[in-house]
Formats: sequence, C-alpha cells, structure tokens
Amino acid sequence: MAEETQTKDEIPKAYEPGKIEEKWYDFWLKQGYFTPKIDPRKKPFVIVMPLPNVTGDLHLGHALTATLEDIMARWHRMRGEPTLWLPGTDHAGIATQVVVERQLAKQGQTKEDIGREKFTKLTWEWGDKSRRNIRRQHQLLGASCDWTREKFTLDEGPSKAVRTAFVRLYNKGLIYRGERMINWCPRCQTALSDLEVEHKDIVGHLYYIRYSRTKSKGFVTVATTRPETFLGDTAVAVNPQDERYKNLIGRSVTLPIINKEIPIIADEAVDTSFGTGALKITPAHDPTDFEVAQRHDLPLVNIMNPDATMNENAGPYQGLERFACRDKVLADLKGKKLLEKIEPYSHSVGHCGRCQTMIEPKVSLQWFVRTQPLAKAATEAVKDGRITIIPERFTKIYFDWMENIKDWCISRQLWWGHRIPVWYCQDCAKVTVSADEPTACTHCGSNQIIQDPDVLDTWFSSALWTHSTLGWPEDTADLRYFYPGSVMETGYDILFFWVARMIMMGLEDTGEIPFHIVYLHGLIRDESGEKMSKLRGNVTDPTEAISKYGVDALRFALTTGSTPGNDMNLGKGKLESSRNFVNKLWNATRFILQSLDAEKLEAQAIELQPPRIEDRWIDSQLNRLIKSVTELMEEFRFGEAEQQIYDFVWSKFCDWYIEIAKIRLRPHPALSMAGEGFGGVSPLPFLVNTLEKSLRLLHPFMPFVTEELWQSLKQRLPGKDQMPASIIIAPYPVADDKAFAPEAERVMDSVIEIVRSTRNVRAQHKVKPSKWIEAQVYTGELLSSLITQANIIETLAKVRPLTILGRQKRKTVKEKALVLVLKEAEVVLPLAGMVDRLAEEQRLTKEGGEIKARIAQLDARLRDNAFLTNAPAPVIEKQKQKLAMLEDKLKRLHQELSQLSSSSADS
Ligand SMILES: [Zn+2]
Ligand SMILES: [Zn+2]
Repeated sequence: MAEETQTKDEIPKAYEPGKIEEKWYDFWLKQGYFTPKIDPRKKPFVIVMPLPNVTGDLHLGHALTATLEDIMARWHRMRGEPTLWLPGTDHAGIATQVVVERQLAKQGQTKEDIGREKFTKLTWEWGDKSRRNIRRQHQLLGASCDWTREKFTLDEGPSKAVRTAFVRLYNKGLIYRGERMINWCPRCQTALSDLEVEHKDIVGHLYYIRYSRTKSKGFVTVATTRPETFLGDTAVAVNPQDERYKNLIGRSVTLPIINKEIPIIADEAVDTSFGTGALKITPAHDPTDFEVAQRHDLPLVNIMNPDATMNENAGPYQGLERFACRDKVLADLKGKKLLEKIEPYSHSVGHCGRCQTMIEPKVSLQWFVRTQPLAKAATEAVKDGRITIIPERFTKIYFDWMENIKDWCISRQLWWGHRIPVWYCQDCAKVTVSADEPTACTHCGSNQIIQDPDVLDTWFSSALWTHSTLGWPEDTADLRYFYPGSVMETGYDILFFWVARMIMMGLEDTGEIPFHIVYLHGLIRDESGEKMSKLRGNVTDPTEAISKYGVDALRFALTTGSTPGNDMNLGKGKLESSRNFVNKLWNATRFILQSLDAEKLEAQAIELQPPRIEDRWIDSQLNRLIKSVTELMEEFRFGEAEQQIYDFVWSKFCDWYIEIAKIRLRPHPALSMAGEGFGGVSPLPFLVNTLEKSLRLLHPFMPFVTEELWQSLKQRLPGKDQMPASIIIAPYPVADDKAFAPEAERVMDSVIEIVRSTRNVRAQHKVKPSKWIEAQVYTGELLSSLITQANIIETLAKVRPLTILGRQKRKTVKEKALVLVLKEAEVVLPLAGMVDRLAEEQRLTKEGGEIKARIAQLDARLRDNAFLTNAPAPVIEKQKQKLAMLEDKLKRLHQELSQLSSSSADS
C-alpha cells in the first residue's frame, strides 16, 4: 500500500490524526507485523495482556495499560526479538452476571424466570458484542497485539486448562470441599473471596444485651453491633485472665426470648477491653467466632436463608429480613428490660464489590484451594530473584500477603463461568472429579451422577492465563517457545487478585515461573491529583480525547514523565502540550521534506561530508540521547525516556539545529545558492539522519504519526529500496560512541549561551525584533571555533556588525555598553541610550554576589573530609572544575564592574 499511494506529495500543512490512524493500523494488520515468527535462535519477548472485563467500556486505565504494553512490544519488536503480545478477555463471572441481571430486571424478569440455559446464552451474546467493542478500542489505541492468538477465558482451550488444573490440584489434595466461613452476598447469592469484598467504615451502634444466668440470679451483659445474631449464639466467651468473670467459667446463661441455655467458656482470644469483656459467640455468622467454636467444639447454628431473611432457627423471627429482624429484636429486648444501653460505634463492614450489598459472613459448604503450599513456592520465586517486581517496594507487600494467605474459596453460586468439574453420585454419595465429562461414577459405576451446579471464581481461570493461552495442558509449540513470558504489566491494585495467583498457578502447573518481570503501573488522577470520578465530573474519556487530540497525543500524555507504581495526573494541559509536540514534529518534518524537494538534492551519506561544528554537535547529542533512552528503556523507565526524546526533539533539534539549518539553506540573493558562507556544506544529510532516527526513537510511544512521517521521508531517500517496509520493523537506533564530540558540544553550548543571553537582553530592553544591534564577543580558547559560527550567531541573535575577538584585544569600553559575562565569553552590547548605568552596576553586583555564594558552597564541600573520602574521584574532579570555572567568571565580572565605574567616572 505504501508503495502505491506514497508518492512525493507534499505532506499536508496541518496534522489530522484521524486520517492516518486507521490507514496505518490496517496496513500493519495486513502485513502481519503483530504475529511473531517462532525462531529458535532468538529469545522472544512475551507479554500477556491483562484481561479486560467484558463488562466495561474503555477507560483511561485500559488506555494506560495498552499504551505501556504497546511501548514495550514495539520497542522489543524493533530490537529484532520475536514479539508476542497476546490479547484476550475475561468472562468476569460475577461482574458480567450482575450486568445481564440488571438488563433483565429492566424488563421485569429475573434469571430464574428464563432459566440457566437461556440466561447463559443471553450472557454469551452480550459478551460477544462487548468483546468486539474491546478489540476495536484496543485497535484504536494502536495496540500491536497478535489478534490471531486472541483468547477468551471461556474458549475451549482455556476451559480445558481450568478443568485440568482443578483435577490436578484435587488429586494432590490441594483442593477440598468443606464448611468454612465465607463472605456471602445476599443479593448475588454467592460466596465471595476476601478480595471481592469492599470494606466501608459505618457509623453504627454497640448494643449491650443482658443474658440471664441460668440457675442463679443476675446477668452477664454482652456487647454487639448485630443484636439479631444472638439467635445463633452457642456460647459466651471470656478471657481466662479476666478477674471479673473468673468464677463464671463453666457456668451457663440463657438466651432471651428463645430461652436457650448456652455455656460460658474461656478463650485467650477474647479482648477484655471490648464492650464488657464478655463476648457472645455466633459461630455461623462471624469469622472470629467460627474459630473460637472450632477450638471449643461448639455447634454452629445458621439463622439465615441465602437471601438474608431469617430461617426456622430464628424462632419467632422466621421470615423477617435481617434488618427488620434487628428492629424487632431490639424492641422485644427493650420490653423485657434486657437492653442495658446503646452506644454509638464506628466499625468497618464488608460490602459486595459488585453490587454494594452488605455481605453476610456465614459458614457454608464450598470448594477451597489449600493455598499455603502454593504460596510458599510463589514466595521463593520472588525471594531468589527468578521474578522481579517493579517498583521494588511492592515486593514486601507481596511477601506479607503470601505469608498471611488464607485458603481460597473458589466456588461461586453463579450461572456464568466454568462449571466445577465435580459430579456427585446419587447411589454411593462419592464424588467423581474429571477434566472430561464422565458418564458414570468412578467408584460404583452408577450413571446416576449430577454435576456440581456451581461455577469457579473468575480469578481461577485468570490465574492460568499465562499458560492456558499458549495451549497448556497440551505440549504446544507456542507453550514451548513463548512460556515463560517476559513481563507482566498491570495496575498495582490487582497484584494479589491476579499477579500472585498467576505465579502460584504457573509454578504449580508447569513447574516454571510464568514471567520474569512484574511491572506495576499507578492510577491516573486528574490535573490536580484528585481521583477521577463521574461524581466529581473530572473524568477524561479516552475516546473523546482521541478524537480531539489524536491517539499519539493521548498515549504520550498518559505515559510521559510517569514512573512505575506511582499515580499520575492527566488533564487538558498535558494533552494539549502532547498535541503541540506532535505538531512540532509534523512541522519540522514538513520543512525538511520541502527542503529536500527544493534542493533536488538527494541526501547523501553523512560520511561523505566534512561536517561543520553544529553538525557534529547534533549528531553527538542524538547519540547521547539514543544511549540514554536505551538504558532507560532497559530499566523500564519509559516516562523518563519519553521526556528526554521530547526535550531533544523540541529544543536541540527543532529550536536550534533546524533554525541554524534554515540559515544555511537560505538562498543567497546574489549567488542564488544555498549555504553561502558555510563552505557549501549542506545540513540536509544531518537533518534527514536526525529526523529519521528521532522518528524511530519515538515510534513505540507515538506509532501513527511516526509511521506517517517516516514513510513520507523514506519516499524521498535514495536508499529507500533497502529500507524496511514499515517503521514498525525498522531497527531501534543504536548509539554510536564514536559520534560523541565533546569539543563540538563545548562550542555549541557557548554559541547557544551567547544567542540566548543576547535575546534575553533584547527582550528586557524591548528592542524590536527586526532591529539589528551591534555586538562584540571576546573569548579565549574558543576563538577560532566561534568565528566559524559567526554567521549563526549574527542571524539568530540579530546582531550586526558582530566582531569576535580574543580577550587580549579588549579595550576599555568608553561608550555606554552592556556586558554579559558568560561561561566562555563576554558579550559587549553597546546599546547607547538603552542602558541605565546604575542599574547595570547593580545587576553585575547582584550576579557577582550569587556567584560568590555558590563558590563558598563548593569551597566548603571541597574542604569537607567526609565528602572527600566518600565521593568517587570523578565527582570530586567535576566539583573542582566547577569551582575553577566560577572563580574565573567572578574575576571577569569584577573586571567589568571596575571598568563600568571607571567609565562612569570619565563621563
Ligand atoms: Zn452482590
Ligand atoms: Zn457411585
């Protein structure tokens, strides 16, 4: 396609992102650039996309994830590594089911009304639509993932992996079914893992209830936030050390209203400072109480139905909803004078992460993974350095979590997800656990078997994602070549939900770590650092941002200056400045292409030219940039790498080199030939080389605009037939240390300083931009070099006549003049009538004071023994040089001052 449409057409004046984005994405797709070739001689780069839920529209979090991963994928691809970025989506069990249930509710229906089969079909349809949407959005962002390998957790492959992993764990005794305390959502009517529960601080009450002593007078008062649960109490516990209750241990109390006798027991876990120090024990509805009950062999009394209404064990309260029951219980206790007092009390209460209903801790028969052995191996993998977590500070959090890990409840009473591969026999009551659907009980051969109706926690399939997507449990070519992955990139908020479990299951299933690096990114906040929320109205919609600023600008704004694991701010300002950068790049390229066309001069190889100082300078700076960017990319500091490319392109290349090149390319009126006074050396080869490499450096960050500009440039280059067909497969630039030119840099630093400070003076004194002013430059070692740059200084600083002389030629300035004391030169601007001598004297004195302060600082440092013994030699040497430089500058400044006062005495 590029060959057909890309002629040497002038590139459009203004950059219109929408026009080029779709064109290039289609081109990349058609060429198959996103699909890696398996090459046993090369080490692949592999990254598996964190599963976006099929529920949501694209938000900035996805955009950030996709951008960071695309940066890595494109960079590694350009380095010649077979790069696999594997996309996929998650069925997101409960989240999806809740969404579809809500849609049904709008039509006045429940999932039970339409039945499991129809509900599942409906959810599939909805999920398909949603997945197409997610794919389109990723393509919009430029994600270079391999769509030919796209996976969905409910696909046949990953589903088989789920069943196989379950059976393996079951056979090893690492999966069991048992009655345990779980979090129950009464609305979703399913078990939830601890991680699916959101804790909120609630201002509630502490109720003091009297339990009358059995066979004796008096009461034992207990304090509780949930008075209705007394119906399920099976003991009162006190601390054995508590003097107040010592003689009551072993006795009993009678529960009010239902008149049930329960024992008073002693347990070390009772906190004597809470309430009265006597604790009611409701083992079926409280995790701590459940543990106490296990220790003392207390019975469990479940008082609630799955929908959190009271069941038959609640006696007279049966059928009441839990909060209505609480009101009734409180009224009844009050009537019997058994409610001693009520205190305000704030505490943390768990809520369903999906529907925000208050969860009910309850004992329930569920499937669990015994996580401790898995966690041990997963901890080892990070401890011994096989897996690195970036940023490092999350390593400790990971260890803490692994150390305190609890068994993982994996069964969910949902319809949407992987059915648990367990069949119960109606005849012998034993279970058959199998990856393939069995026809008979493996124990007695009966065909009266029924599959467990529950599904697995959605994170169970996510935990297998690194290997199930590559074909595990089959021994596939993909699995052999692409596993383990290189990087797992995701938000720090799902380190435990997902990353930790992938490490556990990857190790368990394959015996190998699932990836080498965990890269965690932060959250995106608004411009002022506030969390984005619809309520605050500060949400940036990525689709809107794309249509307004273009994908490249959005990607750049999202990632420039960001650091791993830290939150970052995004707002209009950042998006606008990113778009301005794209425009700057566009305009610079336009200028270079027009110059190429105008000169009818095909860019020659740089080596053929004796380069000028500024040519060697830009090349040196470019190579230093390449070196630095490569190091930063290797350290996963993408945000810093982008910042450096930005600074180079914007300032050094566009503001200085291109401006200088314009002077050189300007046709001389008399000779009508470019570059008069520059020895005929054209800057074009350096313009082209710097631009071409800058585009390649930028490509991973801004894929679309760089491809568009690179293709336009390529069409004008003599070597175009030898160049790759797309920038996406062009090699990432490699630094050439031989290009480093410290002496050219020294000269250009001085040129830039002279121009910049002259421009500042002109601005301060409001000199019209069109007005030429006279200037003399006095310098030492740089004399001959600066003379070669006279044309440049003259034009850029708008100074004429310009004289550049050695310092020894300096005479006392008689007329009113302004003197700039610079690092390696003094600039004398004889601005008659413009300068206020007194103000000038003050200015120089002030500057002198500042330099003195800096000298004192450096001097003290160089006398400090601790610094001298601890700092590396090059650092000390650098400080010494700095000091000498400053002392020299101060001396010259003093000379100027004394001249100024003597000339003022003259006049
Ligand atoms: Zn819920
Ligand atoms: Zn059987």
